[in-house]
Amino acid sequence: MLKRRTAALLLLASLVLNSFPAFAQQPTPTPAPQAPAPGQQQPALDPNDPVAKIIDEGMNRSQVMQTLSYLSDVIGPRLTGSPGMKRANEWTRDQLTKWGLQNAKVEPWGTFGRGWALKRFSAEVVEPQAIPLIAYPKAWSPATTGPVVADVVYVDAKDEAEMRAKYAGKLKGAIVLTGAMREDIKAHFDPQGTRLNEKQLLDLANAPDPALRPQRRGGFPQQSPEQRAAAAFNAAKQQFYLSEGAALLVDPGRGDGGTVFVSAAAVPQAPAPPGAPAFGPGAPRRFSAYDKDAPKFLPQIVMASEQYNRLVRMIQAGEKVRMAVNLDAQYLDQDPLGYNTIAEIPGSDPQLKDEIVMLGGHMDSWHAGTGATDNGAGVSVAMEAVRIIQTLGLKPRRTIRIGLWSGEEQGLLGSRGYVKQHFGEIVAPTPQPTPPGAGEGRPQAAPTPTPQGRLVTKPDYEKFSGYFNLDNGTGKIRGVYMQGNAGVWPIFRQWLAPFSQMGAQTLSMSNTGGTDHLAFDAVGLPGFQFIQDEIEYDTRTHHSNQDVFDRIQGDDMKQAATIMAAFVYQTAQRDEKLPRKPAPPR
Ligand SMILES: [Zn+2]
Repeated sequence: MLKRRTAALLLLASLVLNSFPAFAQQPTPTPAPQAPAPGQQQPALDPNDPVAKIIDEGMNRSQVMQTLSYLSDVIGPRLTGSPGMKRANEWTRDQLTKWGLQNAKVEPWGTFGRGWALKRFSAEVVEPQAIPLIAYPKAWSPATTGPVVADVVYVDAKDEAEMRAKYAGKLKGAIVLTGAMREDIKAHFDPQGTRLNEKQLLDLANAPDPALRPQRRGGFPQQSPEQRAAAAFNAAKQQFYLSEGAALLVDPGRGDGGTVFVSAAAVPQAPAPPGAPAFGPGAPRRFSAYDKDAPKFLPQIVMASEQYNRLVRMIQAGEKVRMAVNLDAQYLDQDPLGYNTIAEIPGSDPQLKDEIVMLGGHMDSWHAGTGATDNGAGVSVAMEAVRIIQTLGLKPRRTIRIGLWSGEEQGLLGSRGYVKQHFGEIVAPTPQPTPPGAGEGRPQAAPTPTPQGRLVTKPDYEKFSGYFNLDNGTGKIRGVYMQGNAGVWPIFRQWLAPFSQMGAQTLSMSNTGGTDHLAFDAVGLPGFQFIQDEIEYDTRTHHSNQDVFDRIQGDDMKQAATIMAAFVYQTAQRDEKLPRKPAPPR
């Protein structure tokens, strides 16, 4: 197996070296051992080697689980703008200071919106029998007007006309089951947790350079007619329930077996006028539930799918069902800003100390669990990595800075705000004036390609070496996504060598998305996410009530923190900054 893979990698290496002469010249400081051939032992690291010390501290005196337990069990869920998030910002700042990091602060990244605090919640069926329910309020849901005891109505309509005909005047003060029954509840024959196998790792290793894939033209995706009709019906439903004066909306949750996936409350969106895009420039403004000026919307909860289905079947069987729900929650409008926690280990090298290496993960989470795997794991791994380096007294040449972001679940808001404030941003192109008389009576010319944005940088942009992120749950590190940056291949190959026995060997050219390294990558700065095993993540904990400490794998967390510490430290020690992708950011 390795053979074919080594061949593939060597091929890739030669490709890379030939196409980036500038890169080829990069002196690598000290040749480090290569991954051992099968059956061969990894040559032991010299115990005085900083990486050996990092492995010893990280694997034998780890504190990652203490950090994670305090963050998830004690502080709990950390919705952006919530009291839990504020406490987490302050506690992590103080903990990092206690470990000896400098300039620790809670730094605003920009205006977020309103916070939300859950005060009390209960939900149960009270008639025709008592049924305790597994249910959760959606984030930023308004409160019910005190405890509500009401009829449960299942809205069974295929379109707006049928909905109005069947339910107009019948939903006032009612608890509404809004969606269709979950028909896809199946027995679980596949494991919820898996470790990447040889084939999957090889596929990653052989993934093509994303830059070689045909680029999709800019602009926002257009909705298909079906999508547009479904979105319009959905918007009409939200408006209808509101105008009919329903008391509470109930959605069937994704997931089963008591696992309920919960995120933000839905806000009725004004349908896009004909011809206007649903998203992007020209589209009607879309409101989020945390927007202070969001239009009025109803209290909303998610219920375990099996229980939701049972209530539907009871109603279809003619039972008169009544529920008692008390959703007491508060909007927090005092401080609309969002905050990140930032701290650093100052650089020691006179030439390089002002250059920056960053690591981190998002600290905000959803609220049904305690945000342990998403992303207490990434926060604790990053904190443990700097604790290891600090505890060992390793004086990095460049400054090592940790960023614990908020607003990630709402669109990478904290990390993007940070990058914009400190390094640079892509400024939208100035709209081109339409030439006089354009289009009148003449055949439509080919649409002018949307002019690309312009990169505007800050002084620290050139001092930035790289950013390492972890945000794929509790699974151990198996390698690194190089995000299309072939220049880092030989460097990361060396740095992974001491960890091949711990299962981390794979370098993939492919991009990975959906999290905070993208904030750096988007402005042309090296930002990387580690490849991790998928341990019950999308199948169980990712944004669910099961996102709790007991789902965390301790040994995986230790391994991940140790590798993160080694990568960050060696990035700080290199003579050169990490190579950047040749192509300008777009
Ligand atoms: Zn996450």
